Amino acid sequence: LVSLRGVNKHYGPLHVLQDIDLDVRRGEVVVVIGPSGSGKSTLCRTINRLETIDSGEITLDGQRLPEEGPQLAKLRAKVGMVFQSFNLFPHKTILENVTLGPMRVNSVSKDAAEKRAMELLARVGVDKQAPKYPAQLSGGQQQRVAIARALAMDPEVMLFDEPTSALDPEMINEVLDTMTALAKQGMTMIVVTHEMGFARRAADRVVFMADGRIVEQNTPEEFYTNPQSSRAQDFLAKIL
Ligand code: ATP
Ligand code: MG
Repeated sequence: LVSLRGVNKHYGPLHVLQDIDLDVRRGEVVVVIGPSGSGKSTLCRTINRLETIDSGEITLDGQRLPEEGPQLAKLRAKVGMVFQSFNLFPHKTILENVTLGPMRVNSVSKDAAEKRAMELLARVGVDKQAPKYPAQLSGGQQQRVAIARALAMDPEVMLFDEPTSALDPEMINEVLDTMTALAKQGMTMIVVTHEMGFARRAADRVVFMADGRIVEQNTPEEFYTNPQSSRAQDFLAKIL
């Protein structure tokens, strides 16, 4: 479904993505981990074309992602993104946060958008918060709204960039549980996270990045118990 071939990106002299090849099948859940600065967030942003690439090719559903133009908005709508900071619109209600995209980008009617938004908010357990504003919600609730907002666009793949790292410990699990449920429902997901419990429960594959490269990838079971590269061994020794 998502395919990266020989993707390279530089920030000035920094070669932040180096010859990245990655294929994610429909329904697959891929966890990306690696040290700070290894390029995980950049990888997510290039898949969504929030960043340009210097060389290589990224395709979604076999279609090459255009650099710009109306086609880009259409393709990007198929890629839902959830960030570390929840990025909700502060002056819009929870309901409006979820209906805005479908109404503007997908030309869905207000009634239909609201009906669907309420279903999605119920699915992530925050439908009672619909009339409130983001600041009135806990971090965990806001992040679940962000997930509902991304789902409202009917994405084919969901990208999560450290969705729980800004949360208080007691709120981490409510977000991870929501993500696990989504994974079990068959959503294609690329998740940057160091939460090993989530990876073991929900991931088909763990991709380990270091210095802009994919150093190794394996099933969660194999990766966590038997990392092959010394980089991965060192990294796991530090986080476990
Ligand atoms: P973390 O675990 O800290 O989130 P990461 O793996 O997500 O790290 P990236 O955010 O992708 O890493 O950054 C990779 C490298 O690119 C880092 O060295 C970072 O400083 C650099 N970088 C990221 N964004 C930019 C930018 N807009 N301009 C210049 N350098 C950048
Ligand atoms: Mg990052």
